[in-house]
Amino acid sequence: MQLIWLRSDLRLHDNTALSAAASRGPSVAVYLLSPQQWREHDDAPCKVDFWLRNLSELSQALDELNIPLLIRNAPCWDDAPKVLLELCQQLKISAVHANEEYGIHESRRDDVVAEALKLNGIDFHSYLDQLLFKPGSVLTKTGTYFQVFSQFRKVCYERLHRSLPTLVSAPMAQAKLNIDSDHIPSSVEGFATPGAALRALWPAGETEARRRLDTFADAQIDYYKSERDFPAKPGTSQLSAYLAAGVISPRQCLHAALQSNQGEFESGKVGAVTWINELLWREFYKHILVGYPRVSRHRAFRPETEALAWRDAPQELAAWQEARTGLPIIDAAMRQLLETGWMHNRLRMVVAMFLTKNLLIDWREGERFFMRHLIDGDLAANNGGWQWSSSTGTDSAPYFRIFNPISQSEKFDSEGLFIKHWLPELAGLNKKDVHNPANLGGLFGVADYPSPIVNLSTSRTRALAAFKNLPSRQSAGGGYE
Ligand SMILES: Cc1cc2nc3c(=O)[nH]c(=O)nc-3n(C[C@H](O)[C@H](O)[C@H](O)COP(=O)(O)OP(=O)(O)OC[C@H]3O[C@@H](n4cnc5c(N)ncnc54)[C@H](O)[C@@H]3O)c2cc1C
Repeated sequence: MQLIWLRSDLRLHDNTALSAAASRGPSVAVYLLSPQQWREHDDAPCKVDFWLRNLSELSQALDELNIPLLIRNAPCWDDAPKVLLELCQQLKISAVHANEEYGIHESRRDDVVAEALKLNGIDFHSYLDQLLFKPGSVLTKTGTYFQVFSQFRKVCYERLHRSLPTLVSAPMAQAKLNIDSDHIPSSVEGFATPGAALRALWPAGETEARRRLDTFADAQIDYYKSERDFPAKPGTSQLSAYLAAGVISPRQCLHAALQSNQGEFESGKVGAVTWINELLWREFYKHILVGYPRVSRHRAFRPETEALAWRDAPQELAAWQEARTGLPIIDAAMRQLLETGWMHNRLRMVVAMFLTKNLLIDWREGERFFMRHLIDGDLAANNGGWQWSSSTGTDSAPYFRIFNPISQSEKFDSEGLFIKHWLPELAGLNKKDVHNPANLGGLFGVADYPSPIVNLSTSRTRALAAFKNLPSRQSAGGGYE
């Protein structure tokens, strides 16, 4: 008997470990509930709820193939070897199959599990599935991990030209086993169930993920490059939660994008090329996580930035977290995060720069807060995004190029539609004042809306000085304007 250990790969289609297990013979699936570990990793309640809802869908799909899905408790990952071994012995499992996960704790967990199984004569097979390229397989000529995205991407393109990763066929139905699937819990203690409105934005299941991908690849992808920076428009795929939970695979995404672009990934439609580029950023940050494990330990990629004199400003941090900074674009973005579990990419950069530059608050505070609220929270992408914005990361924004939130707002939400949607108290302002109600002066200000907590100009100067004073200054990287 084979055991498939499901983690961040909650799908039936194009699931390498699942298909490998099923091709070898009768299979059973297991998922471990690890609330203590999840809390240590700051996993958001809405994300845990999304996992459970997807597990429930997957359990039904597996049921149709007579593959039972079992649920076991392993409060922290140190418990995983014992729990899995017991299950293997009980079911006379000869091999366990799992798709690779990246990060220090994930790798250590898998090494220890593999060792414990091996000692008991049980094989452990792991597969590349979450990424297009295995970390360690895309390296510089001197054999090191790339630190610059454009160079990394070039090698990825060369690889893709030579051979495209193929999709794996879904497993066939097997003969019925005498094992019942477990009930999938609808919640896990310590993780509050999100409201119906949030849940409705993120329906569970592969059908929904596929629908989003198809709708995006059929039409929206053509406008991706020109629309993706405008938060009031539905210009991006909104697939991140599905990719993070593995309800859809990067291979499925790549194939859909290629199909819409006559098989081209470097040329042809600019929208498809730009979108594939984003899939490669996802790839890049996961490779960075493996190649430079310090980022997995919440250390700065650029060690010299560890000396930065971050400010301890709990009240300003709370204002940022609670969407009351008095800067409409920041507050609207933070409300979007709090209410939907997701934030538009442009705004993730804007609020992250505001926190780490204008407020000069440690990027780790923002990283943790995002992780605790994002439905798509992913260590590699979140850490990469935060370190990019705070200029502490690889190929990150140069420290002197600080976004001005008001100019960003005027440029990317020029009519103020996004702001007014999330801050209805500003609905009465015209499209000029809505970006900066403080301009109206005290008497004409909006009664319910706070004054800015920080002066953008002096705080910018303060940030520049803090970065300039670092022992060895970083060189300028590429990035967004
Ligand atoms: C401070 C900050 C924190 C972030 N935290 C996360 C996170 O926890 N999880 C996460 O998935 N993304 C994160 N991102 C990246 C990006 O904002 C989201 O992936 C994107 O907004 C998701 O929306 P979408 O699915 O519509 O993306 P699309 O624009 O449609 O892109 C398609 C997919 O590509 C991947 N992707 C896109 N941009 C990036 C990027 N810059 N880095 C890595 N992958 C990318 C995502 O998987 C995304 O679903 C963060 C960015 C910043 C600046």
